[in-house]
Amino acid sequence: MNRIYLDNAATTAICPEALAAMLPCFGEHFGNASSIHSTGRDARKLLEEARRTVADALGAKPAEIYFTSGGSESDNWAIKGTAFANRKKGNHIITSQIEHHAVLHTCQWLEKQGFEVTYLPVDEYGLVNPADVEAAITDKTILITIMAANNEIGTIEPIPEISKIAKAHKIPFHCDAVQAVGAIPVNVDSWNVDMLSLSGHKFHGPKGVGALYIRTGTKVDQFMHGGAQERGKRATTENVPGIVGTAAALKKAIDNLEENGIRETYLRDKLIKGILDTIPYTRLNGHPLYRLPNNVNVSIQYIEGEAMLLRLDLAGIAGSSGSACTSGSLDPSHVLLAIGLPHEVAHGSLRLSLTDTTTEEEVDEVLRVLPKIVETLRSMSPMFDDFIHNQK
Ligand SMILES: *Cc1c(COP(=O)(O)O)cnc(C)c1O
Repeated sequence: MNRIYLDNAATTAICPEALAAMLPCFGEHFGNASSIHSTGRDARKLLEEARRTVADALGAKPAEIYFTSGGSESDNWAIKGTAFANRKKGNHIITSQIEHHAVLHTCQWLEKQGFEVTYLPVDEYGLVNPADVEAAITDKTILITIMAANNEIGTIEPIPEISKIAKAHKIPFHCDAVQAVGAIPVNVDSWNVDMLSLSGHKFHGPKGVGALYIRTGTKVDQFMHGGAQERGKRATTENVPGIVGTAAALKKAIDNLEENGIRETYLRDKLIKGILDTIPYTRLNGHPLYRLPNNVNVSIQYIEGEAMLLRLDLAGIAGSSGSACTSGSLDPSHVLLAIGLPHEVAHGSLRLSLTDTTTEEEVDEVLRVLPKIVETLRSMSPMFDDFIHNQK
């Protein structure tokens, strides 16, 4: 059976271009990029080419790109590194309630270290209000960190407006752009960010590789201590194959950004409309327009998301009921609660995330299968039974 993979917000398949770029780094170019001999210098050359590719994709300088072990490390480094580098100036951090756990749990840990964190609420679509950011600023504020696009509901935040406020108050601004990079145009200057996180495996690169953009002049403490790699800022022998693969995947994503965006938006909207039109008591989560081209998130009332996922899986369709981290736990997603969904509605949510290889046939197959699954599950649901009886 051909599997239909619609969980690209959790991770993507590595693309042939990335794999082809990586393979020689496991063979001929296996060197340590810090070594003086030619095997090392070969690896160094590949590493620095990759750094330039990533920098170009973001409108940054190569010297502002630091490779890490993923989006989570980039978020941890940016937030903890800025917090401790500015400890004498203040202890207040501003973020939102719908950030990825890599940001939220880092902020919660910092609270235990004596920092104070404001978790801004969002509106019903998941948008942060820039005026709320401004109102939360105190003379102790040392960092504002807001994500570019939400990994669960796909809402795209007004980053240029928020960074303008940060700039006016001379507060460093970090943006978790892990879902945005490779999906929508990202430019560190037009967005006016001081730090920005990305992760290779979200745009068809390998897992375990990310990057942190740090604008020249931004004060960030070192996170990983050891050797002098990454210009003395991040120790450990560079993961040359992973970095080279990430750069190749990013280049491909950026070269095809507009075309993929148009295709995915069409398929996304077909999927959303199809679900809302054919399945009663269903709502779209996230913003209808300020939305990632690949994200569909719906709440289907009176059923359990997990049961729906298992049945979809049996039908060959891979989706998600929240983020990969929240599936497997019974707590409803913090993002769905933050946009105001009651627990029982949040529990019946389904995220389908598309990519450039998603076909219209696959979307049509989901639209054929999903309504039947929902009907079966609702026919077994006492909640739905009660609801229908009360309607009469
Ligand atoms: C996936 C994701 C991360 C974590 O990235 P990893 O590379 O898996 O550590 C962080 N933030 C967002 C918004 C994500 O979607």
